[in-house]
Amino acid sequence: MPNFADKKRVVIKVGSSSLAYPTGNLNIRKSRELVEVLADLKNSGKEIVFVTSGAQCVGAAKGGFREKPRDIPSKQACAAIGQSELMKFYSETFGEYNHFVAQLLLTRDVVSNPTRRQNVINTFNKLFELNVIPIINANDVVSIKQLDFDENDTLSAIVATLTESDLLVMLTDVDGLYDGDPSEEGSKLIPEVERITTDIITLAQGAGSALGSGGMLTKIEAAQIATEAGIDTVIIGNRDPRLLYRLFEADDARCTWFKAQDK
Ligand code: GLU
Repeated sequence: MPNFADKKRVVIKVGSSSLAYPTGNLNIRKSRELVEVLADLKNSGKEIVFVTSGAQCVGAAKGGFREKPRDIPSKQACAAIGQSELMKFYSETFGEYNHFVAQLLLTRDVVSNPTRRQNVINTFNKLFELNVIPIINANDVVSIKQLDFDENDTLSAIVATLTESDLLVMLTDVDGLYDGDPSEEGSKLIPEVERITTDIITLAQGAGSALGSGGMLTKIEAAQIATEAGIDTVIIGNRDPRLLYRLFEADDARCTWFKAQDK
């Protein structure tokens, strides 16, 4: 595992389970800790691009749903409720460290439509120039169909390519990719993946988490998009956001590193 100290522009992706309690309410302590680490990494000279889920889940709790709704209008309404709640939190908490944030809600046509793609790239570039932290989620209100960003892993990889980032880091509730069921004794963490083969994809097959829509498979697919674009990718546990420091300051972070491919 290298020390990623030289990576300057870094996309950090967190899922709903990294931000919210099983009740759907925001886990304030965990989310604050994460924002603090990201603010500190920015202070150290990194450019942070923050991809965050949690809108539907936080919105569902706030909207009085007992569990995450399945019908599309309710999901969209929850996303709308939760997104403003999340941005209020991020804006205030990053603000405590004198960092400004901007909200970008994207749909998949940023990939297929060249004009829209360029518009988004221009916005990102200007935000970097202004020293503002871009905070990205899928635009669930406009588009929530299966073929759009139903989960944010793919979105984070696309954001990494649009921003020409140096590193993509996906936080999740396991430490990385295991060679078996992570909950079973004897399964071992795979620290490095040279290339994403069909064997790796088979290992990743499994259910998504209860709060979010992604799972290991969507993370591997995201890692594939990013590494093929020449971007190193890391999957790391979300227990303690301070683990992120180890990625940049040490060479022993417990995680899986998917090596960038030559373009
Ligand atoms: N855009 C969704 C949300 O914020 C992402 C869902 C997910 O990745 O779990 O709620």
